[in-house]
Amino acid sequence: MKTLKVSIVTPDGPVYSSNVEMVSTKAKSGEMGILPGHIPTVAPLEIGAVRLKDGGNTELVAVSGGFLEVRPQEVTILAQTAETAAGIDIDRAREAKIRAEQRIESKLDDIDQKRAELALRRAINRINVYERRF
Ligand code: ATP
Repeated sequence: MKTLKVSIVTPDGPVYSSNVEMVSTKAKSGEMGILPGHIPTVAPLEIGAVRLKDGGNTELVAVSGGFLEVRPQEVTILAQTAETAAGIDIDRAREAKIRAEQRIESKLDDIDQKRAELALRRAINRINVYERRF
């Protein structure tokens, strides 16, 4: 079976590196599934999960935006933040979700509203990856 070398890196350093059969994730333009031999491309990412399939195993990594670079045998994800399911502090994510919801409910100006909505999306994404809801 052909594989792709996948690296997920953040400003704090590498988070994930492995050879997998398929990568799928949510780009701004929609869901992308990448197999070995894919045409080279660069795509901005949404807050979402990267799914890494290898054999019967699928690993999930939560990312909060960034870029995906595809080359025929290689995928590089440059993410603002990235955590594997095992690297997620679930209590922290649940607290961040409650905090963001409370901020959205209070009267915020437009900029803070947008910030709170993004924080809420990051928290929900981490909770979903931890609970494997992808
Ligand atoms: P919080 O309010 O809990 O800091 P946040 O969404 O504002 O959440 P980010 O700015 O996205 O946090 O991330 C800051 C750093 O903390 C990154 O290195 C990120 O990987 C890490 N991080 C954030 N939340 C978690 C979590 N629940 N588990 C593990 N690492 C986390």
